[in-house]
Amino acid sequence: MTITYQVKNAVYVNITNKCPCACKFCLRQNGPGVYGSDSLWLEREPALDEVVESLEKWNWPLYKEVVFCGYGEPTERLDTLLAAAAFMKEHHPEIPIRVNTNGLSDLINGKSTAALFAKKVDTLSISLNTDDADEYFVMCRPKFGRDSYSAMLKFASEAKYYVPNVVMTIVGEPVTTPEKQQRCREICSRLGVTLRIRPYEA
Ligand code: SF4
Repeated sequence: MTITYQVKNAVYVNITNKCPCACKFCLRQNGPGVYGSDSLWLEREPALDEVVESLEKWNWPLYKEVVFCGYGEPTERLDTLLAAAAFMKEHHPEIPIRVNTNGLSDLINGKSTAALFAKKVDTLSISLNTDDADEYFVMCRPKFGRDSYSAMLKFASEAKYYVPNVVMTIVGEPVTTPEKQQRCREICSRLGVTLRIRPYEA
């Protein structure tokens, strides 16, 4: 099973297929694998030592980043995620660590989690998707209900005190209008985080 895989000049880490959302646009609906990996559907969730073993297979001087992402929400396995990140910080401190997340870690783990990322993660990339909580609920179908959007914003605003780069992402035109992008920019500005508008990929 694919625990780590290459995307451009980064190594991506796939530790779970669990996710509390069912986003209408989720890549997982498009097929078994992305970015040249055969399948990101895991036979089972890898143990920490398997994740570490997989991380150790890479010739790290050739890569610019490690990204916890995969076919699921990495904070579903927060302990494993943080332990693997700590391993990278100890053994490959020159490699920046990013977590791509839906930002629902607090709801998933039933506690405030932003502080746990301190000194382990360099960048949190959080899917904002929209400026509208109702639209978010319809688009992402989070199992935690309509309060998920505000919980995600709260997580982002707290994370900025512990993680050097907190970035929220939306997809650009034609998925979002310039007006919506501006409203998302204002939300990020209020939260004290950065907005990144990703190019639309058909
Ligand atoms: S949060 Fe990510 S992994 Fe989960 S359903 Fe949405 S796009 Fe897919």
